[in-house]
Amino acid sequence: MSAMHEVLACDFCRKAGLAAVYKPDGSTRGLTVYLCQHCGLVQSAPRIARTVERHDAAVSGGADWGNVRYGKSFRTEIALEAVARQSDMTTALKLLDVGSNRGSFAKAFLSAAPNAHITAVEPDERFAQSCADLHRTDLIQARIEATALPDGHFDIVHSCHTIEHLAAPFAALKDHARVLKPGGLLVLDAPNIALIGGRDILEEWFIDKHLFHFSATTLGRMIQAAGFEILREPDPADPVNLLFVARKTGAIPFAVTADPMEVGIAQALIQRYQATRLANLAALRHAATTIRALAPRRVALWGAGRLFDLLVREGGFDPRTLSLLIDAHLLKHMDERHGVRLAAPEALADIDAVIVMSRMFADEIAREVKMRVPGAEIILYTDLLESAKARKAA
Ligand SMILES: [Zn+2]
Repeated sequence: MSAMHEVLACDFCRKAGLAAVYKPDGSTRGLTVYLCQHCGLVQSAPRIARTVERHDAAVSGGADWGNVRYGKSFRTEIALEAVARQSDMTTALKLLDVGSNRGSFAKAFLSAAPNAHITAVEPDERFAQSCADLHRTDLIQARIEATALPDGHFDIVHSCHTIEHLAAPFAALKDHARVLKPGGLLVLDAPNIALIGGRDILEEWFIDKHLFHFSATTLGRMIQAAGFEILREPDPADPVNLLFVARKTGAIPFAVTADPMEVGIAQALIQRYQATRLANLAALRHAATTIRALAPRRVALWGAGRLFDLLVREGGFDPRTLSLLIDAHLLKHMDERHGVRLAAPEALADIDAVIVMSRMFADEIAREVKMRVPGAEIILYTDLLESAKARKAA
């Protein structure tokens, strides 16, 4: 695809030259992914600010994935450490928590900073309730764009995996600068587009809930242009998250210059993603055959999320052949996946082999499997996929 969209302007540089570069798989919002030919920012459109939120959890490998929201709590510790390194946690800090979710960060921050006060912004009433019960916390149940917060009021703005959902992220960042005191701290975490460059990418990364898709370069430039000085760049070894720590300088926002190198990098990355993902999806039938061949041994599969969904839907894997389907996190949201009951890790016993269907938590799961069923063979998703690709090529 290379059609130019003449009406749509880039959220960051305001230029109109957005090239349609990708059509997400299974989008229920009809989203197209565009690449700004001036600054290199990757963005989805149409940018509809959601007025009606879907509330059902969709554990899909396609673009319609969402509402499971267990991911954010895994970022609490690293964000808190970033705040503590830059702030005197004994003082009466005022913190704005953008997208508080279930209040995981808010709770951790309040116990680490005994004199602090939080303004928690969370539009979803199911999650907002968990923040309403917190002490030293004002809850605003609204989208951040709909709030009217005072100028120069906060010491810290914390925003974790929220900016990519907004219809106008650059305006949001400028507003974060406005509500901060001079020298105030921004701790911002967002998904990293670098993940799609991985050899084992399988799930649709451009999901319906995300309108903006940042690299360390594009998000870093946007933060600086909003009036911040970056104190800490994201960890280059982390392909999943982009954690920035920045300080408000109040510098006058500069014009966004062209970045042809970033445009080229993003273009190549998205092309490679499409090719890799298609090859990986095509190899899933061989992965399913490998698992079936383990019979009559007793086989458990751990991880019933997006990768598992694609193994069943694209690979034709029949999950009823499993002795056990384990997922500690999804169990909090649902009882079954593809007609098979979910089990907790505690149920793992009398099993000969465990398929670890997770990328991010593979090491953690493998450790727990070794502890619970020491003799079981462990087959990691990455290895299962690589051998399936080799068999397909043979
Ligand atoms: Zn742009």
